[in-house]
Amino acid sequence: MKPDFERCRQAATLLLLEQKEQHMAVQVRSLSFQKKIMIDSIQHFSHLTGAPVYQFTGRKGLLKDGCTIVYQGIYLVLYNVSEINQQRLNWTLAHEIGHIYLEHQTDGALQEVEAHAFASHLLVPGIVLNALQNEGTALTKESVSSIFSISLTAAEKRLATFQKRPDIPFSEEERQLLRAYQPLIDQYTEQQSFCSKVDSPIYAEENAAMIEKMTLHWLYDGI
Ligand SMILES: [Zn+2]
Repeated sequence: MKPDFERCRQAATLLLLEQKEQHMAVQVRSLSFQKKIMIDSIQHFSHLTGAPVYQFTGRKGLLKDGCTIVYQGIYLVLYNVSEINQQRLNWTLAHEIGHIYLEHQTDGALQEVEAHAFASHLLVPGIVLNALQNEGTALTKESVSSIFSISLTAAEKRLATFQKRPDIPFSEEERQLLRAYQPLIDQYTEQQSFCSKVDSPIYAEENAAMIEKMTLHWLYDGI
């Protein structure tokens, strides 16, 4: 059997569409789910239940980054609290949510690939990447990592897949998602063009006063 990338993409799109508000940097812990999903750390779960932590070690003998337990129709997503890299932790959670939404019953190689594909579409929707590119954003691993708050490695992989398989044609649901993201895309591109204007010598003088005002505002606001 081959991974069903279309299904991963569609499931991630639908979950994003269910959200009241969109954010360029999707934080999995802030998402609302129509399924019963709880997120906790492996260590806290072990402490509460007395289940030994070693039950959550992977093949290499290290504690897993994350895993999902189903109990009486409730999905409990557990993550390793010692993971201090928030971007990596967010990806792990997106991956686990992928297993749930793709209704995986096993955790084989195919399911792993699909859960990663789901995570990549959830955190970086292809149609949003496409729109950013059309509106003049140079897509580099640095820009993608910073816009969507994912690691540089994840951004590099996402870009490689996007360039190889640009998700075209987009589904009706993806176009609907793009409409929800459009204000964020506009905001980002406007910000970028402002920054490039600031850097340009023609605008430097004209903007100097404004920048000074903004800096003062930034420095003193909230004191
Ligand atoms: Zn997995």
